Amino acid sequence: MKPAVVAAGVDRALAHCAELARISSLQDGIERLHLSPEHKLANALVAGWMREAGMETWQDAAGNQCGRLEGRTPDLPALVLGSHLDTVTDAGAYDGMLGVMLAIEVVDRVRRSGRDLPFALEVIGFSDEEGTRFGTALLGSRAFAGTWDDALLTLTDRKGTTLADAARAFGLDPARIGDAARRPEELIGYLETHIEQGPHLEDADRALAAVSSIAGARRFALTVTGRAGHAGGTPYDRRRDALVGAAEVIVEIERIAKETGTIGTVGRVRAFPGGINVVPGVARLSLDLRGEFDEQRDGAWDRIDAFARTVCERRGLGWQVEEFYRADAVPCDGRLRAAVEDGIRATGDAEPTVLWSRAGHDGMAVAAVTDIAMLFLRCGNGGISHHPDETVTAADVAAALDAFEAAVLAVADQRSR
Ligand SMILES: [Zn+2]
Repeated sequence: MKPAVVAAGVDRALAHCAELARISSLQDGIERLHLSPEHKLANALVAGWMREAGMETWQDAAGNQCGRLEGRTPDLPALVLGSHLDTVTDAGAYDGMLGVMLAIEVVDRVRRSGRDLPFALEVIGFSDEEGTRFGTALLGSRAFAGTWDDALLTLTDRKGTTLADAARAFGLDPARIGDAARRPEELIGYLETHIEQGPHLEDADRALAAVSSIAGARRFALTVTGRAGHAGGTPYDRRRDALVGAAEVIVEIERIAKETGTIGTVGRVRAFPGGINVVPGVARLSLDLRGEFDEQRDGAWDRIDAFARTVCERRGLGWQVEEFYRADAVPCDGRLRAAVEDGIRATGDAEPTVLWSRAGHDGMAVAAVTDIAMLFLRCGNGGISHHPDETVTAADVAAALDAFEAAVLAVADQRSR
C-alpha cells in the first residue's frame, strides 16, 4: 500500500469537486449549464488538473473537455474514462463531477506507477448530460458518439437563445459540432464511475456496485374517456366516470411494476371538465415505465395495457394510448463489466454487488460508438441526488478510486491475455 498517495488522490478529488461547485450561475446553490460562461470556466479548470496528471488536453467541437495519456506506444486506441461536468438546477457537488475527478486521479496513479498500458487513457468531462438548458439530454456524449443531429441546433433555452447561438457565444462553430464524433477503431471502451443516486448500496451496507444495464424508459400519454354528468343527478349505475377508471389503472400500475421488478410512475393526472360537481368525462395521465431489460419493461406494459382495457370495458369507458418517448436499455459490456467487478474485488469486497441504473447516464449515448461499463459508489442521506444534500464519504471515494484503477488494470490484463 501507499497510504500517503492514496489519501492525496482522494483529498484532491474531493477538493476539486468543491472547487467546481463554486462555479455556478446561482448565488446560492449549484447550477452549471451547457455552453454557459460557467461551463467555460469549469473546462479550463479541469483541463489544468488533467495536465497536472500528465495528460495532453483539448476541448472538442461539442465543448467536451478531453485529456489523453499515451500508452506503451503513441497513437494506440484509448480506454475512455469520464462523466459529465454540467448539472441540474440546485444540484449536488458529485453527480458527474466526481466521476471526472476520479478518472483524472486514475490517470495520475497510472502515470506515477510507470506502467505501460496496451492502450491510451483518455478522460472526458462531457459538456451536457442532464439536458437542463435545452431540455434534451446527452448533447455532449451524443456528439462524441457520432449520433449528433444538426436539427438539435434549433433547440432553445428558457431565454429563447438557440443552441446554435449559445455554441457561437461559447466559441464553438455550430456547423462543426458533429466533428466531435470519434471512430470506433480509436476506442476500446468507456468506463464511468458515478454516484448511485439511489438508496440500494446504503441499504445493503456496501460501498460499490457494478452496473448491469442503464434502464431505458417508455413514456405514455394515456386517456380514459367516459361521459361527464351532474354529480348529484347521475346515479352510480348510469355513470361512466373516467377518473375512477383511471384510478383503478394507477393502482394496478404500481402492483404490476412491483411484481415485475420494473418502475412505473404516474406523475401527472388531469380530469376534465374539472368541475367540483361534475362527473369526470375524460382523465389524462402520464406513465413513465423503466426496467433493467427491455423485455421485462415491455412485458409489464403489455399487462398494464390489458388490465386497463378490461377495466374500461367493464366501466363503459374508452382507453387510448400514445407513446411519445422510447429509449431502449443499454446493457453494460460483459468483458468491461467483469473488469469493474475485478476492480471491486481488489478493494476486498469478494462478492461485488450488481445494480441496474434507474437513471440515465452518458454511457447510453457512448454505447453507440464503443462498449461501456459503470461503477457505482454509495451516496448517503438515503441516496439523495439532484439536490444540494448529495453526499459521499472519503472512505467510499477511496474505495471507488482503488476499484476504478484496478478495473483499468484488469482491462489491460484482458487485452494482454
Ligand atoms: Zn450524472
